Amino acid sequence: MWGWGKALWPEYCVVCNRWLVGSATWMLACDICCADWPYLCHSEGSILMRERCHGEFAITGFRLQSQQELKKQIDAIKYGGDRHAAFRWGHWLGQRWGLPKTYSSSHVVLAPVPLHRRKKIKRGYNQAHWIARGLAASWGVQVAPRLLVRARHGDSLTGLSRESREAASDGLYRVAQPPNSPPQSVIVVDDVITTGSTIAACGHALESAGHRWLGAATLALA
Ligand SMILES: [Zn+2]
Repeated sequence: MWGWGKALWPEYCVVCNRWLVGSATWMLACDICCADWPYLCHSEGSILMRERCHGEFAITGFRLQSQQELKKQIDAIKYGGDRHAAFRWGHWLGQRWGLPKTYSSSHVVLAPVPLHRRKKIKRGYNQAHWIARGLAASWGVQVAPRLLVRARHGDSLTGLSRESREAASDGLYRVAQPPNSPPQSVIVVDDVITTGSTIAACGHALESAGHRWLGAATLALA
């Protein structure tokens, strides 16, 4: 489990700051605040994910549309440098969705969608890596943070149409691995899925390199 200890685990609701008395330790918000969150931790979420990225195992946490509280959480993870929040949300996602029993945890690895080196230096960390760490702690699997690399430093895909995103993300990712390394069963992890072209590009790169691409896990669906 996480080496930084339980002291950093939230005991208060991330929304209203109410003490999370009696709640499971992986909970992030109180029942009242959670009640109207647009959760996608059920089959509908999986269907929506699969429509966008075509992986066989595709999960997400919530819809990122109207909920200011959840948007704030994603912003804190993405732009605010809050790696603890990324870890905790990743762990939350893992508690909400179990790893299918058909996937032996010892054979599954989580590959965060990589940032380009320059962007990672600027941001200080890769949020997808910390989400993957939280997820991995929940499922008892390994994270492979350097399996995928971003080949080009391109403009952000935000705001582009589906076609433009697909064109822009083609060949954007590749697999970095030592020669003769064994094939792995890989789940790609990211913070938010939009059109799914980023995740699909990562999946294709993994398959081209001989790995088994199982699908994707994201915190939110835009
Ligand atoms: Zn609350």
